[in-house]
Amino acid sequence: MSQNRNLLDRSLRSVWHPCTQMKVHETLPLIPIASGSGAWLQDFDGNRYLDAISSWWVNLFGHANPRIGAAISDQLVKLEHVILAGFTHAPAVELAERLSRQAPGLGHCFFASDGSSAVEIALKMSFHYWRNSGRAQKNGFVCLAGSYHGETLGALSVSDVALFRDVYAPLLNNVARVPSADWRNAVPGETHEQAAIRAAAVLENHLAANHERIAALIVEPLIQCASGMQMYHPEYLRRARAACDRYSVHLIADEIAVGFGRSGSFFACEQAAIRPDFLCLSKGITGGFLPLSAVLTSDTVYGAFYDDRLTRGFLHSHSYTGNPLACRAALAVLDIFEEDDVLESNHRKAAALSELCKPIAAHPKVRHFRNTGMIWAFDIDTEDPGFGGHFYQAALHEGLLLRPLGRTVYFMPPYIIGPEEMQLLAEGTITALDTALAQCV
Ligand code: PMP
Repeated sequence: MSQNRNLLDRSLRSVWHPCTQMKVHETLPLIPIASGSGAWLQDFDGNRYLDAISSWWVNLFGHANPRIGAAISDQLVKLEHVILAGFTHAPAVELAERLSRQAPGLGHCFFASDGSSAVEIALKMSFHYWRNSGRAQKNGFVCLAGSYHGETLGALSVSDVALFRDVYAPLLNNVARVPSADWRNAVPGETHEQAAIRAAAVLENHLAANHERIAALIVEPLIQCASGMQMYHPEYLRRARAACDRYSVHLIADEIAVGFGRSGSFFACEQAAIRPDFLCLSKGITGGFLPLSAVLTSDTVYGAFYDDRLTRGFLHSHSYTGNPLACRAALAVLDIFEEDDVLESNHRKAAALSELCKPIAAHPKVRHFRNTGMIWAFDIDTEDPGFGGHFYQAALHEGLLLRPLGRTVYFMPPYIIGPEEMQLLAEGTITALDTALAQCV
């Protein structure tokens, strides 16, 4: 039995895979991965796949990146982990300082282990801030239509992807939803900016009527990723910030997917020149090496918890909070950003890939071709719900790892993607598209 076959049989017997109806693997084989290098993944039979989705959007600088690996190795022989309550260590301190320098005014960094736990922390901190400020009735949240903030119950409560949310609705908090500023919702004759202004007006009205009971608005700045790469104009964020200020509502920016250069700037909020009250970070923070997340917040929020009374403190923890290995990986990621002028190089790469994508945008079945920073997406004009599965398989056949979101195909490549890999991605996508469409009813 080949090593591929052996591993996939054992995996199906023992591993309950995430976000998967396990029965699909009766017909759709798992792909056992033996190694990764740069933008590529390789199985035991030597087949290679270009990781055009950065392995669930985490991998910024390629698989087995030697600089990140070296930082972790160095830390491994010094201190692998220590409880962060009552103790501290240099990697956590340095990372908190450096992240805060990237997000001026957000000088207090609370660490956790993954994106969903960062979102839980921001929600709890916001409510607790108002409670400590004598306004405990501010216990509700507002999210955007099509939002996605994670799978734990609090994060799922502020998410709006029916496939993930509906089954658990009885367990979730009641959260208000306001329209998204997605430019695809622009009415004829309206610019993307006007569509954003119209959506912001609905938010404004909602806050005006309900602010006494609202702790925070949570948004994915500029790109609502999981619901299908819905992109919107930064004017929405500017107006949302102003409305939140007017009505004493916190703004939580979930940059778990769009932070660390993905939107084109280091943080997406920079493009609207706004500062959120809470900034949630994860995914790319360690370049895809180790789980880590962080919530950055302001002196004002921090100050409301600083007290002689224990219960006014933020008594939240996760065992691996601020893990030194993960912090070192994150510091190595920040070093790479500085040393390699990554944002500038990404601008050039984005222009090159957009150029190569022109035939995709012109494909007769492609709608709403869009790009922000290092994210590209387009919708396929088909009614067949099987499109995503057909396309996924057809792309693998072309050596591309691409996982459509319903009928939306997207690219979120690692930043180290090279010119030949970009060409392969653009050309292979057209072939896969035609193959998949030929299978659609
Ligand atoms: N927020 C956003 C915007 C996300 O895209 C995700 C993950 N896709 C999360 C939160 C949840 O992060 P995690 O999967 O690490 O819990």
